[in-house]
Amino acid sequence: MGEDTEAVDVIVVGAGLAGIACAYRLALAGRSVVLVERGTTVGSKNVSGGRLYTYALEAVEAGLTREAPFERSVVREQIVMMDDDRSMTVSLAGPPAAVDDLPTSVTVLRSRFDAWFADRAEAAGVMLATGIRVDSLLVEDGRVVGIMAGGEEMRAGVVVAADGVNSFLAREAGLVGELSAHAVGVGVKEVIALDAATIEARFGVGPGEGAATLMLGCTAGVHGGAFLYTNADSVSLGIVVSPEQVTASGTTTHGMLQALKAHPAVRPLVAGGTTLEYAAHLVREDGWRGVPKRLARDGFLVTGEAAGFVLNLGYTVRGMDLALVSGVAAAEAIVAGGDLEIAYRTALDRSGLPATMHAADGYADLMGIERLYRTYPGLVLDVAQSLFTVDARAPRPIRTQVRAAMRAHHVPLRAVLRDGLVGVRSI
Ligand SMILES: Cc1cc2nc3c(=O)[nH]c(=O)nc-3n(C[C@H](O)[C@H](O)[C@H](O)COP(=O)(O)OP(=O)(O)OC[C@H]3O[C@@H](n4cnc5c(N)ncnc54)[C@H](O)[C@@H]3O)c2cc1C
Repeated sequence: MGEDTEAVDVIVVGAGLAGIACAYRLALAGRSVVLVERGTTVGSKNVSGGRLYTYALEAVEAGLTREAPFERSVVREQIVMMDDDRSMTVSLAGPPAAVDDLPTSVTVLRSRFDAWFADRAEAAGVMLATGIRVDSLLVEDGRVVGIMAGGEEMRAGVVVAADGVNSFLAREAGLVGELSAHAVGVGVKEVIALDAATIEARFGVGPGEGAATLMLGCTAGVHGGAFLYTNADSVSLGIVVSPEQVTASGTTTHGMLQALKAHPAVRPLVAGGTTLEYAAHLVREDGWRGVPKRLARDGFLVTGEAAGFVLNLGYTVRGMDLALVSGVAAAEAIVAGGDLEIAYRTALDRSGLPATMHAADGYADLMGIERLYRTYPGLVLDVAQSLFTVDARAPRPIRTQVRAAMRAHHVPLRAVLRDGLVGVRSI
């Protein structure tokens, strides 16, 4: 990029799913577009548990899912409540949810998936520039007219910030403030190699099929949870927790993940596996409340996780699908022209993203109930265990056993009722 570089229609910063989707759609619409990525290869810096909802890929371009290098289609959903050495699993299996013969969700490995997606975008005409870190915006007369990278400038009609969770471009543009610690979770993840037949036997799935497992009660009382997703010949095991509470707890995310691997509910599932990859990343947790009031200004807009488009619903995290649909909406807004903010809001509304995030707004309150992480998993396990324990004594009524478990966990009835009310109101 030199001073004499000709201006392009659009510069997209960040080759994650939002940035690639946006650049791809702009290229398909005949716009000249440069996609700038700081990683030396696309996907090398991107972290996700790995579950992708396919409707979003179809929103980028119909038929894309069939060509995508996904790992397995999810046919089994599992939620595991655990304490130090016990666990209780709710498992939902059956005919896999499908729309138009496509699985509704699949697992992906970002390094493979993002690289494929970027190749598609390049084939459509996107100019991909990897290994370049954008340092700042180029602003003239209050309008964003390009970017600065490595001391050189590059000009464009519009700059799109798709630079992920801690978007400094959106901050520099004045659209968002500093990211606060309670707005994010910190995630660590291992990819563990296992052969396909072993995965299928252990998770009770067929060839090409996979399981998505969310775990609660495995974070040493710290706000957060864990996930385990099956890939073609590996599994992705990770933990996402509140960074503020981890620091205060004296534990580490790495320590929690190692303890999880040794837990009796997880150890047999990963036994014999070799760790291929270890990654750490932040993820937004504040839902719609974290989305900035303005998403655009003259010559600039923000998309994907940079705009806060992530939902943590407890039983699933949705960041990749929202990144894809918001990237498409950003491209549509640029193609539509006129006032960017209005055009972008209109395109987002058409995509259903704001309505989806609004509908889940209360989950932040539900997920904010501390006892969900510290107390309830153990309490539920105590009650379940008492139900399955038979001895020579006459069984006590279930309500008595529930009260005994509540006493043992120091949870008064009024606290359970209060949490229940918060829970019901929030969903
Ligand atoms: C542990 C964990 C588990 C998750 N699990 C799931 C899941 O199972 N399903 C799901 O849907 N979502 C999940 N998410 C969330 C999801 O991964 C993200 O919301 C999503 O990837 C965001 O996409 P994006 O394109 O907006 O940003 P990213 O994918 O973060 O892409 C941003 C890109 O911008 C680049 N970049 C940043 N700054 C610059 C710069 N200055 N110059 C050039 N390039 C730059 C980065 O290198 C990166 O490639 C998870 C997140 C974490 C951390």
